This record gives sequence, structure tokens and C-alpha cells, in this order.
Amino acid sequence: MVAVDCIDCAADASVVNAVNEGIEIARDIKSLRRPWLMISVNDDEDLHFRKAEFDPEDCPADCSRPCETVCPANAIAFHQNTTLGISNGAGTPRMLKDGVITERCYGCGRCFPVCPYDKIREVTYVRDAIATADLMKRDDVDAIEIHTSGRQTSLFKELWSALGDSVGYLRLIAVSLPNAGDSTISTMNEIFSIMKPNLQSFNLWQLDGRPMSGDIGRGATKESIAFAVQMANARVRPPGFLQLAGGTNAYTIDGLKKEGLFQTPSVNKYSDNATSTNGSANSSQALIGGVAYGGYARKIVGRALRAMQSQHGVAACVEDHPQHLLVALEEALALVGPFKFL
Ligand code: SF4
Ligand code: SF4
Repeated sequence: MVAVDCIDCAADASVVNAVNEGIEIARDIKSLRRPWLMISVNDDEDLHFRKAEFDPEDCPADCSRPCETVCPANAIAFHQNTTLGISNGAGTPRMLKDGVITERCYGCGRCFPVCPYDKIREVTYVRDAIATADLMKRDDVDAIEIHTSGRQTSLFKELWSALGDSVGYLRLIAVSLPNAGDSTISTMNEIFSIMKPNLQSFNLWQLDGRPMSGDIGRGATKESIAFAVQMANARVRPPGFLQLAGGTNAYTIDGLKKEGLFQTPSVNKYSDNATSTNGSANSSQALIGGVAYGGYARKIVGRALRAMQSQHGVAACVEDHPQHLLVALEEALALVGPFKFL
């Protein structure tokens, strides 16, 4: 059975270990081709690289905790510091503290404005290039995604140079950028010329329409579709696949079809490679080579985890209740199916 091509995660060794462990557990439950593992980094401050933080001790006791309700990732919780049986990659239970569960927070920012006491801080970070380069040399990391602002390229150049020959270990280099209007294509061209001398793998442009909003509803995907239309109208583009992101959800493919931009590439569905040669570099008939699902995918997984916890208790592990994982998997397959001839 075919599935997602790539799973994107933080450029952190423990996260990479946990994702690889999760992939193997999923493959034990259902026969799936191993997806590529992609690590994400940023060349400057970026919405995707921030966390919420607050001290629950500072919260007034009578606060109705709107932060907890609004968080789409279940990343804010008040557990009274209980120990939960959630695996941490080493298979050991760990303590869930009150407040923000940092590993779950993906920086969507929805909790910031709802706190009536202004207790929630935004903590931004930039990944260390040397540690990232070391990670890229591991044989269980296949791809990197570099988030850039699209405003100027000097910071991208600096990061690319710091990554050095580690890019040669990868199978795919993705650059994620927002729509900066008319200057977008020239920025992409500049970035491509920076990468070109030591680009030995596939490359991909991730068109970030409306960051981290896919779970909000149907309209969230409009900006990613508009970005795709803009790219379709561009007379010249730098080489590389185009992938939609930012607001992508179950309505994205319909939106692409309405614009006449959805065409399945000629991927060999029985290929054991995540991206076969047949369906990649030369599949220029498919303007949009793929869709990245972020917030919407989190929503699917979150729903499955909540259902499992309400049935088996908050300490339950999905490994022990694979039927819940299967529900999430079926929904995920419905998302990628149109791209994969399911
Ligand atoms: S930033 Fe988003 S994911 Fe993080 S705690 Fe706030 S609402 Fe949750
Ligand atoms: S809304 Fe603000 S004050 Fe209330 S629990 Fe959340 S962080 Fe604390």
C-alpha cells in the first residue's frame, strides 16, 4: 500500500529517533512503505519555529483556562503533574507538567490572544546549523526543509554555507517560503543559484499559503491555491517540484481541480522509492507535485489520540491500541489517495 512520501519533523536528534520509532511501530500495525524523514530548519525567526510558554503558578486560580480549550494540539494541560505512560522514544514513562507541553506545541499562536491575563510568552528559536549538518549525515534522515522569509536571501546563503557538504547526504532539499507577491520568483531564482553548486538531490519549493491554519476550515486553503495559481502564471520558474502547504486540508485538491491545476503525476505506484524517478524530475505535467498537511494532519491524529484516551485513560499508549491508529491512518490515506491512485 502506498502512503505519504515524507514525514517532516524538528531537526532534533531525539525527535528524529521518536519519529523513526513511530514509523516502525506503524509499519508493524499496517504494511506501509517507509516514508522519507525530513528535518525542518529556519534561516531566521519564523512562525514555525516558536513555542508558547507560561508559568502555571502565575495563573489566577479562577481563570477559565481558554488557552487549554483553544490549543489545537492539546499542548496546554493542567494535569497536576501526573506521570503519564507516554513513550519518549526510549520507551519510558515521563512526567507531564502543567502548562505548555513543549513537544506538542507547534507555535500556531492561537493561545496568545486568548489569555485574559497576558501570561503567555512567545519563545522563538533558530536551529543550530552545525548540529543540523551532523543530523543530515545520519542514514535515517532523508531530506531537509529550509524555512526562509522570502524577503532577502543573505540569511539563506549563510545557512546553506554552514550546512556545507552535509546536503550531499540527502535525497531531497525543500525550501519553504511565503508568498511575497511579485518578488517571489526572483527570490526563488536567487535561492536556487545559491544551492545549485552543491545540489545533488531533488529539490522542492514549498508554497506556504497561510501558515499552520489547515485545521481551521475550508477557507484556509484559499491562499495556498492562490499561490499555486500565481506559480502557474509565472513565465519562468527555477527548477524543482512545487508543493502546497499552509492551510492545506481536505479541500485543497478540490481547489486545485477548480483551477485546472490538479493532475496526478506518473508515479509508479508499486515503486519502493518514496519518489520514483518516473514520477519526479520529469513529471512536469503535474504543476503541483504534492501537498504538505500540517495542522490538518495534527487534527486527525489528535482526534484519534483523544478517542483512545477517553476509552482507555490518559496514560494509554497508541502502540497498545492500534485500532485507534488505524482510524487516523484511514483518514490520512484519504488525503494522499488522490495523489497516489488509491
Ligand atoms: S502556540 Fe498553538 S500549539 Fe502552542 S500552546 Fe499555543 S495554541 Fe497550543
Ligand atoms: S488563559 Fe492565561 S491565565 Fe488562564 S490558564 Fe491560560 S495562561 Fe493561565
